[in-house]
Amino acid sequence: MDHLNDNIQYMKGVGEKRAAAFQKLGVRTVRDLLSNFPRAYEDRRTFYTISEAPIDTPVCVRAMVSGTPSAVRARRGLTFLKLKAVDETGVLDITYFNQNWLKNTLAPGVTYIFYGRVGENGRRRTMTNPAFEREDDQGVVTGRILPIYRLTAGINQKLIMQCVRTALDNTQEIPDILPPAVRGKYELAQARFSYENIHFPRDDISLDQARTRLVFEELYVLAGALELMRSRRKESDGIVIPDTSMDGFWEKLPFSPTNAQRRAVEEAIEDMRSGKPMNRLLQGDVGSGKTLVAAALIWRTVQSGYQAAFMAPTEILAEQHFQNLTDMLEPYGIRVVKLTGSMTAAQKRKTVENLTLGQADVAMGTHALISANVSFRDLALVITDEQHRFGVDQRSALTGKGTHPHVLVMSATPIPRTLALIIYGDLDISVLDELPPGRTPVETFAVGEEMRVRIWNFVRRLVGEGRQVFIVCPMVEENEALPENVKSAQEYAEELQRDIFPDLRVLCIHGRMKAKEKDAVMTAFAAGEADILVSTTVIEVGVDIPNAALMIVENADRFGLSQLHQLRGRVGRGKHKSYCILFSDSRTESARSRLGVMTKTNDGFLISQEDLRLRGPGDFFGSRQHGLPDMHVADLSADMRVLKQAQQEAQKVLAADPELKNPENWPLRDRIRELFELHADTFN
Ligand code: ADP
Ligand code: MG
Repeated sequence: MDHLNDNIQYMKGVGEKRAAAFQKLGVRTVRDLLSNFPRAYEDRRTFYTISEAPIDTPVCVRAMVSGTPSAVRARRGLTFLKLKAVDETGVLDITYFNQNWLKNTLAPGVTYIFYGRVGENGRRRTMTNPAFEREDDQGVVTGRILPIYRLTAGINQKLIMQCVRTALDNTQEIPDILPPAVRGKYELAQARFSYENIHFPRDDISLDQARTRLVFEELYVLAGALELMRSRRKESDGIVIPDTSMDGFWEKLPFSPTNAQRRAVEEAIEDMRSGKPMNRLLQGDVGSGKTLVAAALIWRTVQSGYQAAFMAPTEILAEQHFQNLTDMLEPYGIRVVKLTGSMTAAQKRKTVENLTLGQADVAMGTHALISANVSFRDLALVITDEQHRFGVDQRSALTGKGTHPHVLVMSATPIPRTLALIIYGDLDISVLDELPPGRTPVETFAVGEEMRVRIWNFVRRLVGEGRQVFIVCPMVEENEALPENVKSAQEYAEELQRDIFPDLRVLCIHGRMKAKEKDAVMTAFAAGEADILVSTTVIEVGVDIPNAALMIVENADRFGLSQLHQLRGRVGRGKHKSYCILFSDSRTESARSRLGVMTKTNDGFLISQEDLRLRGPGDFFGSRQHGLPDMHVADLSADMRVLKQAQQEAQKVLAADPELKNPENWPLRDRIRELFELHADTFN
């Protein structure tokens, strides 16, 4: 079984180059390879004759190439290859785009199995870019359920399939991390069977059994890891921060704290003096004033002679928090320093030195805070903002810089209770359920293109009154083809400046800019040096520009509701009446009712529930929103029932063997270590 940890570089057909490509898929060892499950399957078992094949459904057709394929050159470098294939029922016109080399592969008079969707062109039947296999090779891919893997440059389906096959053939025994009793209780398949059938399903039932077992296994490891973290924390001693009055802090603020803010601070201080490490989640809608709670706790901590660290997900946000904290805390002689990736090596070195020697009290930064060379003299409080952007492992890397420091996690994304209980099962929760006084809700309108002129006039009017305006465009991935109606931030900004608002000052910010450039633009806008800021969602989190009174979202239907709510939270942060305009030309019922929710309520929790209901759990929890490690097969919302079962079983195992010292539990221990590989020390 040891060979599961072997590097796949030494497997037949792999080598150094391909091993490097495999790494991009997160595959380094034989075990990784076996755990890299297919993202989908193709059923190559259904055969049809040409004339009987259903239209537009993937099927196999057995047909003979009936003439020499001919290559055609079209405009703009596009080439295609046309050929005919026949069976006893009819003729199939096959076209391949940009694959002219197939000309010498597909030989006339030879029978192939073509796999693809049959189309119709008048009375003729067609197929475009079908996969194929010679009939006499049959059995390699045809006649089976075929795994489809995620790919990366330098790696194709065939290679992965071959490697997985070899790995399975060379692995006599896959250690079963599920105790036989658990397997029996939930009627779960054995490890060996499951790994075989998730890659090469014998039939639908076997695939189902394999998946069920692997989902359980994955959640069992996750639950075990979380349980282990929990029990560790409860054992450890916390730094005692004495409970003295907060009045000295509240007094110097330009405003008085809301009752909710006061309560959250009191709850946290109660934890911090208890002798156990605090582990608290602070949930509060956008604009509820979470930063102030953080500042109050930092103040308390530093007054007691300790240091604090505050981690934000982006440079812009770190910069803004840095400014705020400096303003709020410097009057007390508290030394706040900044640590971000864009600083020069020399600046970073100096900052780290200050922290190590205790010449600085508070470190405000990005991920840069968790890099290995950062250390503190006396770190007692760790705060992370917009927590769902950080993984569990990153959080624990930061706490590792102190000796069981107190932890406050801040989140503006309310998550459904059932899930919170599992993910945050060990966190105490404070909620800011009250907005600072004087806020009026942002008035929201969902509009179509026909309102364009009126909205542009409205922009002019507000700018005339001295206000500023955000215009947000959907993020466009590097290689995503741009649909006709979707606007890219940069081009759009240029267009607006040139054609619509030549007399106004338009700035642009987008994800492909360097951190320094983004900072410069954001700073300029915050300083009132522009009237309109066109951006992608980089401004989504936390950024505070009190003078901004209008948020316009283009192609609003391309955003999730929670995301729109975050965006809307960028305005209405000052004393000015604020508006949000959601442009959308989508006429679909679902787009309309989604945007309708935004116009009806400003309540973030309600909106996230609607989001969940309308989009379904898959989308809602996609893209690491939960801050947990990526799951291979499990779906944290759909597999909720299994998650509960797995959690129960993991708790039982850990109750009986808290350190996982029993050899029977070694496979589980190893898998947990692997899950949080980055910080194996947490689990030693
Ligand atoms: P969020 O919870 O979204 O992170 P922030 O901490 O950024 O909210 O606070 C939003 C705005 O409200 C900031 O401009 C902040 O200065 C202001 N603010 C916070 N608390 C109060 C308060 N008690 N009274 C008035 N304004 C406040
Ligand atoms: Mg914030």
